[in-house]
Amino acid sequence: MFDLQTAIQQAKHVTFMTGAGVSTASGIPDYRSKGGLYADQVDPEYALSIDNLQAHHEDFHKFVVNNMYFPAAKPNVIHEKMATITNQKGTIVTQNVDGLDRKAGAEHVVEFHGNLYRIYCQTCHKHFDYETYLKSDIHAADGGILRPDIVLYGEPINPDTVSAAIEAISTADLLIVVGTSFVVYPFAGLIGYAQPEATIVAVNREKIALPEGAHMVQGDAVDVFAKLVV
Ligand SMILES: [Zn+2]
Repeated sequence: MFDLQTAIQQAKHVTFMTGAGVSTASGIPDYRSKGGLYADQVDPEYALSIDNLQAHHEDFHKFVVNNMYFPAAKPNVIHEKMATITNQKGTIVTQNVDGLDRKAGAEHVVEFHGNLYRIYCQTCHKHFDYETYLKSDIHAADGGILRPDIVLYGEPINPDTVSAAIEAISTADLLIVVGTSFVVYPFAGLIGYAQPEATIVAVNREKIALPEGAHMVQGDAVDVFAKLVV
């Protein structure tokens, strides 16, 4: 019988691969789920695309500011336990752009899709705080358009980020997939870099497709992590 607690205790390097389900308990909607953030929007993939940013930066800005930012959101027990575990021996590779892993104190985090709270000017590449961006997406000094440092639809993942993710996954002897249905590529493809002898486990409410031999802990990740002693 597979026991997550024991597996974590015995592992030398634990890598978590996480998605939106980790942050929903912090009040951040999962925009891909039914009834999620964009249920009433026409085309969220266009709204969050590089094409939209380039062609209609005002629309892009309005959409992002109205739908994506939850600066008051706090890390939940999943973030906290993952931070404790990975600060000792591991890494978090997340699809989330909310920065909650770092807020929870995690030091070894690969933000695969970037971070909403990192803002830069596309013209001069100077950085700004997100409060400035919430008010305006124009850098007055040079007229440049500000944007969050996240991967938009139509943009590639930063190669250094891909390398860091592959490194974290290929060195793990325990891989824990949490809060992601694991259908979005290239993120889902990262599991292919796991060592053949690595233990792979998914914590998710619904069963998800996993490599052969992987373990499934079916249930609410909040409940599962609340019980972990780390
Ligand atoms: Zn500028």
